[in-house]
Amino acid sequence: MKTVKKDVKASIFCEEKEAEPPSMGHPDPVLLTMTRQENGLKNDFPVNIRSLEFRNRYFPETSLRDWNNWQWQIRNSYTSYEQIQQFLHLSEDEVKPSGNGNNLPIRITPYYASLLDPYDALQPLRRTVIPVLDELITSPEEKPDPLGEMNDSPVNHIVHRYPDRVLFLVTGFCSTYCRYCTRSHMVSKKDKCHAMKSEWDEAIGYIQQHPEVRDVVISGGDPLTLPESRLQYLLSRLRAISHVEIIRIGTKVPAVLPMRITPPLLRMIRQYHPVFMSIHFTHPDELTPEVCTACERIADAGIPMGSQTVLLRGINDDPVVFRKLMQGLLKIRVRPYYLYQCDPIPGSAHFRTHVEKGLDIIRSLRGFTSGYAIPHFVIDAPGGGGKIPLLPEYFQGRSDGRVVLTNYEGNTYYYPDPD
Ligand code: SF4
Repeated sequence: MKTVKKDVKASIFCEEKEAEPPSMGHPDPVLLTMTRQENGLKNDFPVNIRSLEFRNRYFPETSLRDWNNWQWQIRNSYTSYEQIQQFLHLSEDEVKPSGNGNNLPIRITPYYASLLDPYDALQPLRRTVIPVLDELITSPEEKPDPLGEMNDSPVNHIVHRYPDRVLFLVTGFCSTYCRYCTRSHMVSKKDKCHAMKSEWDEAIGYIQQHPEVRDVVISGGDPLTLPESRLQYLLSRLRAISHVEIIRIGTKVPAVLPMRITPPLLRMIRQYHPVFMSIHFTHPDELTPEVCTACERIADAGIPMGSQTVLLRGINDDPVVFRKLMQGLLKIRVRPYYLYQCDPIPGSAHFRTHVEKGLDIIRSLRGFTSGYAIPHFVIDAPGGGGKIPLLPEYFQGRSDGRVVLTNYEGNTYYYPDPD
């Protein structure tokens, strides 16, 4: 049970607003030193100043060793409206989940909770995890399974949409629930959170019987919330299938529970290379010293990382914010991969931007920063059409045996390309 101090008014965060924001770059050596001294451990995990103060305030009996233990973080996650009131001054818009709209419960790790602004209900990270009135309203175009994944599911836990790859949904559990989750229809649901081994075996059997499947994406829910032994079971079974060339893990754990990225976990995963990781990031404020350390560990284990980001109104739909996130990810060796138009799940209208906003963001990056920092902007077509890439109009057409092109500054150029 959490130990919570009663006086939440004298916030550490208010005082912080006058000072420097929490360090959101590379790990701070002072904090690293502090952590090591308390734990007496070498190579231990950093704790950023904001999280450290949160722990001191709300979990004063908890050692840094426990704070940096991922299982402690999951056990002590905030899971109710009453609990989040202990550290947030909730606005009138912030409400209890009611079974309407996205039908997602609350779940936030103490680590991620420590990054939320207790007074500002519009703070980007806070908006992604705290339920609001708008999410209880379902618009006509919204569907619980907007991508029609269940129509492409030949056996439980498998979505087979593209010719040479499958999605393997191994759990419905996440350490932190995002209010805009595409899989809100399955995520957090009791019957999906603890899949039986026999259910996985059926899914693995399907992959074995389909030699065209060369790429398996393990996702959910969040596979990195599974105990190592279960994850190892999955990876070893998949690696034993000769036609499975690559395995990808889709996760938000490095952003919301970075202490899960332990050396034993990575030692286990690297036995099953080539393994890739697709990491869900939302905002540059997520790039704390803890996250930098987690990603550096993953990269050092030889696991290529790509980022996936959902375009969210008022959260990351600003070109400056978005560029900061993409450039920050590259610095920690995460290659920006996808920018998704937000899927129309129930209660998501307040998150969705116009598609032109995404195109503007891509236009603001192309030519102005490294190509490596530019993700593919895609719409996952409602009803099951798969990912469709969207590009600003650089190709203008043909004229007199030439291709007419517009560059990033809006200037016109011609490329000789006889008919
Ligand atoms: S981490 Fe992914 S699967 Fe889990 S709630 Fe967020 S978007 Fe959904």
